[in-house]
Amino acid sequence: MSLKQIYCQDRAIGILQKAFNQQRLGHAYIFAGIEGVGKYTAAVEWAKMLLCQDKIIENDFADSCGKCASCMLFQGQSHPDFHNIYKELYPFTEEGKNKKTALVQFPIDVIREFVLDKVSSRPSMGTHSIYVISETEKLNPSSQNAMLKVLEEPPAHCIIIMLCTSVEKLLPTTRSRCQIVRFGAIDKELVVDSLASLGVDKKQAIFWAGFCQGSIGQAMVWSGLEAYEFKRQLIQRLARIKLEDVLEITDLILQGTKNIVASWAEKDSQTSKSDLAKRVQKAVAQMMSLAFADAMKIEAGIVGDIVNADQQAEIKAIAGRFTAEQAAENIETCFQSTKWVDSYVNEKLVYERMLIELAK
Ligand SMILES: [Zn+2]
Repeated sequence: MSLKQIYCQDRAIGILQKAFNQQRLGHAYIFAGIEGVGKYTAAVEWAKMLLCQDKIIENDFADSCGKCASCMLFQGQSHPDFHNIYKELYPFTEEGKNKKTALVQFPIDVIREFVLDKVSSRPSMGTHSIYVISETEKLNPSSQNAMLKVLEEPPAHCIIIMLCTSVEKLLPTTRSRCQIVRFGAIDKELVVDSLASLGVDKKQAIFWAGFCQGSIGQAMVWSGLEAYEFKRQLIQRLARIKLEDVLEITDLILQGTKNIVASWAEKDSQTSKSDLAKRVQKAVAQMMSLAFADAMKIEAGIVGDIVNADQQAEIKAIAGRFTAEQAAENIETCFQSTKWVDSYVNEKLVYERMLIELAK
């Protein structure tokens, strides 16, 4: 992997390259964009290039060589001057030792011990120390405030890259101290093509590309989970939902989410299981919400652009059962339930409540 190979983010990479060419490298960056569009990969490749001892520069595009000692350390994920910071480091802090709590927020202890306490140390082999901090939208205001000084006056050798899903979720004081590089969503056709090239069935590839709305990373994850058959069943049941079916559909969802979380956890050992469970629960609400959005489109005569193109009969049935207004209310109900997921309401209750509303 190198910077050149980063998928469909030419604009963002171009901004970084320009700064590098003009020797105007910033010390604090925010890489902003929805999950799975390549922010982390770009940050790693950018760091690798900056630390590379034998950079390849062609047509004003600087890239890593892939062969020097520094690049080899990157390949082994053990470069001493590259610091990968994520909230799951909490159990490795003084305060969080051996604690296995679900983390909604990014603990300040991780920032303190893995960033603030270390930034002043000199790089061990390269010219820079690079800190990439994931999910910074989950830093609360006091954690962000703790970082302000370092963002404002970072040591000369230090580069901090904060990854976040939306800059609006960061404090204005944080934003104003960083250079913002935006990562855009990726064209649906390109996502479909790359899933298909990985061997994903075309119908499924089209669905996941639409479901993940331009996030190639998420589309790759979802198409590799045991989720598609579940989604088909869910939409089938939703098309015929009646009040007396609510308990049965709740069971289907609980079992389905459990299986999806298990298959996800097998592939991703870095993210905690409770975090994965929350993501899956939200995704299930989104699956339902998209079915109603599709039904609204069909009612409005827009058939070409629906996400559930693989289940048109079911979507038509939903469109036949609910008026556009009711469908819009159902989308709102699904959206509300994603908020309950974050506030630790019992999972079963969330689905029951949501389905009762939908079946009314
Ligand atoms: Zn190199």
